[in-house]
Amino acid sequence: MSYESVIGLEVHVQLNTKTKVFCSCPLTFGEQPNTAVCPVCLGHPGTLPVLNKKALHKAIQAGLALHSEVNLFSQFDRKNYFYPDLPKGYQITQNTYPIVTGGHVSMHLGDGTSKEIKIHHMHLEEDAGKLTHNEHEDFSRVDLNRAGTPLLEIVSEPDIRTSEEAYFYLRELRTIMRYIDVSDVNLEEGSLRCDANVSVRKVGETKLGTKVEVKNLNSFNGIRKAIDYEIERQIGVLESGGTIEQETRLFDASKNITAGMRSKGGAADYRYVPDPDLPPIYVTEDLIAELKKTLPEHPYTRRMRYHETLDLPMQDCIVVTDDQDIADYFEATLAQTEQEAKKVTNWVLTEVMSRINEHKLSVAEFSQKIPPAHTGEMLTLVKKGVISGKIAKELFDDMLESGKTASVLVEQKGLKQVSDSGELEKIIDKIIEENPNQVEQFKSGKDKLFGFFVGQLMKATNGQANPELANEILREKLK
Ligand SMILES: [Zn+2]
Repeated sequence: MSYESVIGLEVHVQLNTKTKVFCSCPLTFGEQPNTAVCPVCLGHPGTLPVLNKKALHKAIQAGLALHSEVNLFSQFDRKNYFYPDLPKGYQITQNTYPIVTGGHVSMHLGDGTSKEIKIHHMHLEEDAGKLTHNEHEDFSRVDLNRAGTPLLEIVSEPDIRTSEEAYFYLRELRTIMRYIDVSDVNLEEGSLRCDANVSVRKVGETKLGTKVEVKNLNSFNGIRKAIDYEIERQIGVLESGGTIEQETRLFDASKNITAGMRSKGGAADYRYVPDPDLPPIYVTEDLIAELKKTLPEHPYTRRMRYHETLDLPMQDCIVVTDDQDIADYFEATLAQTEQEAKKVTNWVLTEVMSRINEHKLSVAEFSQKIPPAHTGEMLTLVKKGVISGKIAKELFDDMLESGKTASVLVEQKGLKQVSDSGELEKIIDKIIEENPNQVEQFKSGKDKLFGFFVGQLMKATNGQANPELANEILREKLK
């Protein structure tokens, strides 16, 4: 009997505002504990939270980018629970009236096919503080720098069927959030966290199985492994005649397993109530229209445009549009070169990317050293046969180092490809004269020796012989 899995993801995206969601403390990472705090985020009695307008705007922009409905009325609720990282005793969140409902994410999978995952809703909330348990034996430490950080929780419908789909859904969300600049989505800094609701059912069954919530997913690979483990575990339980318990399980990344944490109660446990300190949010159509204008071309649209108008393979389109700055660099280069699109993507994804990584540069810093126009001009020289592809790679390092253009360096260093057939003939004649044994062996059928002659020619020309022309002349002379 075969099973299928049903997966829904709750993704917490940390918004990249300058200050916290209900006070003016700065958002920090890695600072001394409890240095970015004030009476509001410390939960002192008598303080009043005030909503950060930028956080609201970013939530709306995210809603627009996910084709959702932005609600003209929404409100904040208190989610009551006691935990040492939550000094107020409740978290401010949106339960009944979230800022955004509906929507979808269109994504491409590893094989280039696409799938749409529906969004249930998105709501704004504050993050809690951070507890450190392993520094001392007798006590834990509380750091409230993170308390009050704005989070956008994106809740999907249970449309995801495999761990691979979950992976690509998260990748797509990350790309979109970065494009519209609402979050840095940095997994190391915890600005994207994810819980997965996983259940299994027999194929053909329409009723959903009992779902288990898996928490503590904070890396793309961890998410894949946790979901795969949980699917296998649930099928194992059912196959051996057991039943699935509704519970919350934690993923242990060091062992790649999930382990039971607590049995999950109903929503009523949290005693949600509208927060009396925060007035309801009324959003105007004008504000939505204004924020809509700030959105860049959607990464999905951009990918499809490259695929359809530039005739690039989907896999290339996915990789080149993953980062908006790289996509911009690619497009600017393409606009300023005679080289074909496929060759330009290859160059950007290998030569540009490797230098950016090697020298630890941002795309903006790299563009200052080698502007797209310079890369474009260099690729035109390759296209015209002025320099070879091999020389181009070395030249690109020189361009990065010196800031000079390719044509200036080619002139200065005498790197021009030898495309003069008269000149090549002279060199080839000399090689033939100096290697009579090899010529004889080649003529008597030892075809492999052709490579030897090419090698000699490249040596004689410092690798600057035009390869096509050189091959042609060599074939002719060795007849
Ligand atoms: Zn504060």
